[in-house]
Amino acid sequence: MVNTTDVKKAVRQHSEMEEFFTGGFTVKGRTENVHTSQSQTIKDKQAKLDAIAEEVHKCCKCGLGKTRTNAVPGEGNPDARIVFVGEAPGADEDAQGRPFVGRAGHLLDKIINAMGLKRSDVYICNILKCRPPENRDPRPDEVINCLPYLQEQLEIIEPEIIVALGAHAARTLLENNKSIGQLRGKLHDYYPSLGKPPVKLMATYHPAYLLRSYSPENRRRVWEDMKKVLSELNLPIPEKNG
Ligand code: SF4
Repeated sequence: MVNTTDVKKAVRQHSEMEEFFTGGFTVKGRTENVHTSQSQTIKDKQAKLDAIAEEVHKCCKCGLGKTRTNAVPGEGNPDARIVFVGEAPGADEDAQGRPFVGRAGHLLDKIINAMGLKRSDVYICNILKCRPPENRDPRPDEVINCLPYLQEQLEIIEPEIIVALGAHAARTLLENNKSIGQLRGKLHDYYPSLGKPPVKLMATYHPAYLLRSYSPENRRRVWEDMKKVLSELNLPIPEKNG
């Protein structure tokens, strides 16, 4: 039988979460003026990302190629200053072929909006491009096979900062085995490839974890992490949640 106290609690948490991460403030966006040469660069980047997406859609390098409904290469601004990287597609993403479109995706949208940005300003993708059955954790062989796609995407987009959502994404990109509690809250260096300068990386809780482990403290921690991201990019920090 459904416990009405639990239902009420879930409804209250949902509305509080909505309020916390919903903008109601004015934030100046990035400069929208794009010159011809920049416009060509963006087109080139998009073409390269499209080529990767095409490869991903045909990919069967690991077993997930057989169990997926749709591959989920990633989407967003090819010239984004921020790239959000999650762990792997879930059921909604697998069904639609798009990243972060379920409940966790809805919360990620709220977080992005709370930062004074739009989803179309950033790029969103995952370590794995196909859904592991029953949302189990990615296996090492799957990560080894799939990671080159993400590495290529990051080299094309050249973000100024990567936000790793959750422990799996953070550990994979930072090549360590620390907990998300140890990793979040400070900027790390992600090394794209030999000879390339490091890219700043902020680890924070995965929105799905935030939905499961709702608490004012956890959502405050995520917001503190995002404020550091904005500060690193010299973007205004919205007053509302500050
Ligand atoms: S998870 Fe990655 S490596 Fe495995 S089939 Fe999908 S795209 Fe290919």
